[in-house]
Amino acid sequence: MARDRVVIVGTGIAGLVSAFALAARGLEVTVLERGAAPGGKMRQIPIGTSRVDSGPTVFTMRWVFDELFAASGRNFADHVRLRPLDVLARHAWDAQARLDLFADEARSVEAIGDFAGPAEAARYRAFCRDSKRIYDILEQPFLRAALPSMGGLLGSGGIRGLLRLPQIKPFSSMWSALSSYFHDPRLRQLFGRYATYCGSSPFQAPATLMLVAHVEREGVWSIEGGMHFLAQALAGGAETFGATIRYGQDVAEVLTSAGRACGVRLANGERISADAVILNADVAAVAGGLFGSGTRRAAAAIPREARSLSAITWSLVANTEGFPLRRHNVFFSRDYAAEFDDIFARERVPGEPTVYVCAQDREADAIAGAAAEKLLVLINAPANGDRHGYDAAEVERCAQRAFGVLERCGLRIDRQPQMTQATTPADFNRLFPATGGALYGRSSHGWTASFQRPGARTKIPGLYLAGGSTHPGPGVPMAALSGRSAAASLIADLVSTSPSPRTAMRGGMSTR
Ligand SMILES: Cc1cc2nc3c(=O)[nH]c(=O)nc-3n(C[C@H](O)[C@H](O)[C@H](O)COP(=O)(O)OP(=O)(O)OC[C@H]3O[C@@H](n4cnc5c(N)ncnc54)[C@H](O)[C@@H]3O)c2cc1C
Repeated sequence: MARDRVVIVGTGIAGLVSAFALAARGLEVTVLERGAAPGGKMRQIPIGTSRVDSGPTVFTMRWVFDELFAASGRNFADHVRLRPLDVLARHAWDAQARLDLFADEARSVEAIGDFAGPAEAARYRAFCRDSKRIYDILEQPFLRAALPSMGGLLGSGGIRGLLRLPQIKPFSSMWSALSSYFHDPRLRQLFGRYATYCGSSPFQAPATLMLVAHVEREGVWSIEGGMHFLAQALAGGAETFGATIRYGQDVAEVLTSAGRACGVRLANGERISADAVILNADVAAVAGGLFGSGTRRAAAAIPREARSLSAITWSLVANTEGFPLRRHNVFFSRDYAAEFDDIFARERVPGEPTVYVCAQDREADAIAGAAAEKLLVLINAPANGDRHGYDAAEVERCAQRAFGVLERCGLRIDRQPQMTQATTPADFNRLFPATGGALYGRSSHGWTASFQRPGARTKIPGLYLAGGSTHPGPGVPMAALSGRSAAASLIADLVSTSPSPRTAMRGGMSTR
């Protein structure tokens, strides 16, 4: 029997999840990727003889992948080896002030008590309780929903829904909410940083994003072989279910016939027909006409001022000394408000940035010896990579500021030019065109922003969107949820529109 044919553009995590889910259901899946390897932002950069994870490094919400694999009769843990981290992250403000957060809440309470006193520790407990409540309220009607609306959120609980609205804190900024939990400004800074996981400023994002703190407390895992291995495992899994993945293929246009998506045209002129198409590119590229003017209307444009954060990253292999690194480390700037003001109001790299360092050879509590180690150093930056060039001199000035913050906190990194590769907003804009280098789609500024991300279905029948710039938002597990949602919507539509579905679909699929 002929099978329904699906073309997926992009092997970001969302595209891979869609491919995995649809191929497992027996559809004929072709995935087209411009790059040479799967993963999109989840990429590795070769440095010397090593490969450094240069995109996401913090893996959370593993249940998303447990469910994906289980739905196709597989066990995630058999394919991807995960190790839970005991220390979630080490935070530093100077050479003395350090605070670790632990997966075990009681240990974090104790550490916060030692760091900032028992009253702050008690307030941290309240923060944990409230961030968990936000997550619990939103998991079903928002994270797992194909396309949520405020009406839907409230309607699902009737009058109870209305009463619960203040509990998800949509109308106060994260910063002001944190000020009521924590009197110590360093703790506000630490927990405010979770807004940046969604590419946003804690001064403008709603306090609802406190739920990210809960997500992290639920567990952070390291992946054997690095985060990029997750992309390889998904790509390999999709292939074993029969998907074809072609690398080095630049898709120039989504083809339509009688108003319905019917395939794609590659930049080299090749046409591939399909019954449905999933685009895993950034929404900004779709709205910007990079897939043809006919498909612009599939997504609303993201105004420049609504772009999320970009970053400057340094992927390097180097010796370090002076600071006991954990796997995840954050070194804070002295003026958080000025940092976000620089990025969002002045569109410039912060004068003094907060610096994240992922020491990738360090598992859980283990401290590596004197050998050179794989590091990703990251600072947040404005998404102006389509208007600003970032020449070598500027990148070096930024490096001096970032590595200067590390030195102020006691960490010296022996940075060798031949063992270091920087990536700027201009580079990210080249990798993810039309974004300016924004890495998380639209920023989550203001309480309505989360409802402005498009869902999987578009105005063009047969065309679906998936990725971190769509609902439910950025981050590896969230983008994965969008990929799952695109696959589920596509199957539901094929079943409902086809008089006699061509595909003998295996198994069942739901969006939850
Ligand atoms: C430096 C950095 C650090 C991050 N840290 C974390 C973290 O610690 N934890 C976390 O959960 N998230 C993190 N994120 C965010 C996370 O990586 C992303 O939200 C997620 O990976 C996005 O996946 P996606 O499905 O949107 O696809 P993307 O990764 O955006 O990939 C899209 C793919 O589509 C391809 N494509 C686009 N257009 C075309 C075309 N025309 N033809 C062919 N192919 C095309 C691209 O080449 C690309 O491979 C980080 C991101 C970055 C960059």
